[in-house]
Amino acid sequence: MQIGLKKKLTALSKEKDRGDIVHWIKSVSNHLYWVAASTLSADGQLMLEKWLSVQNHIQNVHQGHGDLFTICSHGELVGSERKKLWLKPGTKLCERFQDVVSSRQMKKDIPMLSTGQQTSCLESYHGVFNHFAPKMIGFSYHGQLCRLLLAVMYFNENTNREQFINQNGEAGFFTMGRNIENP
Ligand SMILES: [Zn+2]
Repeated sequence: MQIGLKKKLTALSKEKDRGDIVHWIKSVSNHLYWVAASTLSADGQLMLEKWLSVQNHIQNVHQGHGDLFTICSHGELVGSERKKLWLKPGTKLCERFQDVVSSRQMKKDIPMLSTGQQTSCLESYHGVFNHFAPKMIGFSYHGQLCRLLLAVMYFNENTNREQFINQNGEAGFFTMGRNIENP
């Protein structure tokens, strides 16, 4: 979905006089991720309102979005954040941007977004913890504590790593201590 969105915005940025949108592609794409990641309740309506708020935000309007999500959560903008290339309300570019963001497909897909990243993240943390402190071995209190701290450090260090790509350009999966290539 993120890829489809990027493609559409990139195509838009190549139209005549629509170049300004190029500065927004990354943050709009991040916004999509944030909508899912910040809505643990997976409330579809809330996710949709969060998503659509980007239409206001991009015009430098940060409140009055929806019923459930009324104000941007980024707080007061300071310094360079205030000098973004805001879109001018009522312009053709603004209109075209809104077409992409609030297309029928988007309105259908956004409420169905999965907040599953959190679940898989937690699962992989449990995997790491089990590696450092296997359940079948009884450790002393201090032994268990040290192992817990090691697991946390290891997990934090590795969580945001980019996915391993092998020589053929295929994505692989990193597991404890070694890289496993795609079968
Ligand atoms: Zn905002």
